[in-house]
Amino acid sequence: MNGSDLVQVAIDVPLSGTFSYLTQSAVMPGARVRVPFGNRLVCGVVVTPIPGEGVEALDASKLKRIEMVLDGLPPLPDEFLQLVRFASSYYHHPLGQTLFTALPTGLRDPKNPSRLDKRPFALSAGGLAEAPPARQKARLALWQAMQDGPLTLEAAKAVTPQAGKLLSAWLAEGLAERVSPEPVPLRLGDAPELKDEQAQALAALRAQPGFQPWLLHGVTGSGKTEVYLQLIADHLAARRQALVLVPEINLTPQLIDRFASRFPASRIVVQHSHLADGERMHGWLDAWHGEADVVIGTRLSVFTPLPRLGLIVVDEEHDGSFKQQDGLRYHARDLAIWRARRAGIPVLLGSATPSLETVANVEAGRYRKLALNRRAHGSARLPDVRLVDTRRKKLAEGLSEPVLEALKARLARQEMSLVFINRRGFAPVVACTACGWTSGCPHCSAKLVVHLMERKLRCHHCGWEEPVPRACPDCGDPDIKPLGEGTQRLESALQRMLPEARVLRIDRDTTSRKDAWDEVYRKVHAGEVDILVGTQMLAKGHDFGTLSLVAVLGADGGLYSADFRASERLFSQLMQVAGRAGRAEAAGEVLVQTQWPDHPLYHALVAHDFDGYAASLLDERRQAGFPPGVFQALLRADCPELAQATAFLRQARDLLEPLAEGVLISGPAPALMARLAQRERAQLVLESPQRGALHRLLDQLQPVLDGLAKSHGRALRWSLDVDPQDW
Ligand code: ADP
Ligand code: ZN
Ligand code: ZN
Repeated sequence: MNGSDLVQVAIDVPLSGTFSYLTQSAVMPGARVRVPFGNRLVCGVVVTPIPGEGVEALDASKLKRIEMVLDGLPPLPDEFLQLVRFASSYYHHPLGQTLFTALPTGLRDPKNPSRLDKRPFALSAGGLAEAPPARQKARLALWQAMQDGPLTLEAAKAVTPQAGKLLSAWLAEGLAERVSPEPVPLRLGDAPELKDEQAQALAALRAQPGFQPWLLHGVTGSGKTEVYLQLIADHLAARRQALVLVPEINLTPQLIDRFASRFPASRIVVQHSHLADGERMHGWLDAWHGEADVVIGTRLSVFTPLPRLGLIVVDEEHDGSFKQQDGLRYHARDLAIWRARRAGIPVLLGSATPSLETVANVEAGRYRKLALNRRAHGSARLPDVRLVDTRRKKLAEGLSEPVLEALKARLARQEMSLVFINRRGFAPVVACTACGWTSGCPHCSAKLVVHLMERKLRCHHCGWEEPVPRACPDCGDPDIKPLGEGTQRLESALQRMLPEARVLRIDRDTTSRKDAWDEVYRKVHAGEVDILVGTQMLAKGHDFGTLSLVAVLGADGGLYSADFRASERLFSQLMQVAGRAGRAEAAGEVLVQTQWPDHPLYHALVAHDFDGYAASLLDERRQAGFPPGVFQALLRADCPELAQATAFLRQARDLLEPLAEGVLISGPAPALMARLAQRERAQLVLESPQRGALHRLLDQLQPVLDGLAKSHGRALRWSLDVDPQDW
């Protein structure tokens, strides 16, 4: 083609496949380029062509040229491109959009960012070998200056104003290279002597250096982080890098300080979505260039390129924030495991309440489990958990007498309490207060959700609908109502009944500001709070010091729910929230108000028996045909009109069913959160006991649905969620 090559470029647009462009000189895969697209100039990344997605039958006269290679950086590394490609194919998300989700914002820019790489320049062996001719004064001066050692761009410019251009050319010709600073020897801050269980875990981890997913199952406060730190120290000593993924809420200054003071000479890079673009990008580049030793970050940091990666840690692996809920709906833990396998390195998942997926993987022998059953710190013990049976008790605004008394006792002793309100929000199941009947679907194993306005019960799995019964179908008692009702007014009730208490409420509103948690911690540790009140947010890994009482209200709502993961989440949350009590010297107490004191979940909670309850939940899931026994994907559609979303999905089902070998398609059904931002949401469930069968169907879905969606016009949007966590 008259001296031009054809390359494939991935671009940030919602179209599958890549785009062909002409180029004059060879461009490496991974190079960032500026290309014309439609009527704008955009940033793209050159990729190797996707097998099977040929570029034949291109009209050469219509092909456009790459405008320029965005230099200043070497091509993106192959390991990064491979991870992106895997994520794109597994989550069935366009390659270009996947790639641009994985890149920091600063690298998505089509402007030529030649100043991105701050590393100094040095002459390569080839560059050193031959001096420029004496008549090229600027060149010679720069060359001579670089004989004495690497120069930063600024220093080089002081030698000659042409330095920028010259160095770019030398880089391209291989006469110069970028150099990283000499590594400093590892220094280690003070570490406690490991307890027996910790030492055993560390020894097991050290004995197996290759790929292996590990579950470090340790009760709250058992010293998991200490195990991570000591294992990471091994890798840093061997000049390897470590990647530590943590949930959003756990990425606190305290945690970063703990790493920084353990590894005072090492470069620790933090990656999360609230960083300023420049800061995020420079951390990313340092990691890629091998200069960062440890990367600590939220789910997005799983994509950070790390050429010397030796270990991945996923702390609180059960946490929902590892799953992205829009765009590329990836699960960072699952990508971390794929990445570790590729790199042949260990991946350590830590949790006090591992996900059932992980428990099942341990059971199947794919993951190895290490247990820490005792708290590490001094005399700290697990709290005493007691149930408060509210069936025969009169509640004052939802508060039982024993809970009120316990709160008063703490107030009198000037100890802090926490009131945890389980608020499930929008999808209540109806229950009978007399016999415990709950609304189940007659056609599948899901629970029916009450829609009070229409007085209907609906199944969000298969779409079944029926009127709300007037009385309990089992015992005839008319007193049936949505579970979890009555928790809404609790906060103000508490304040009224205990006027002398200083109550601090924690929820999404009060903690949305960036430094809000710092303020919470400051107040708590300054002793300015008597009672912390809050919802799910409190169940995460916070250390509130001298907390001695945890009261749990409204938990029953999670026992019987339309979301089959609700009881797993409730149990995990209650274990975690109970773990907030008695972390220091004083033993903690946990009181749980419930109408179902005989429920196995509460029995397991009282006995601190995670393993037993997880095993019974797994059994239940397998019998009901829910994950991890089966693999699921949700095909979602949303539209201003529910009828249109449903019609689209019905047509989609008809088109997909003939292709669905070994895959069950159910629905359409309204989403659990059926209405969001003026749009009605509905979904199809695609599921199969074979991951392969499910993905074979998903592979064929895009062209089928693109065609169908066109006939529905712009108002309709669809998306696919592989391994969905939320309904
Ligand atoms: P987890 O990550 O399991 O919640 P941490 O590693 O944060 O546990 O440890 C909980 C507390 O116990 C911390 O204050 C930590 O400093 C302390 N700790 C951990 N390991 C030890 C140990 N071997 N000896 C003494 N204290 C320890
Ligand atoms: Zn009944
Ligand atoms: Zn159903």
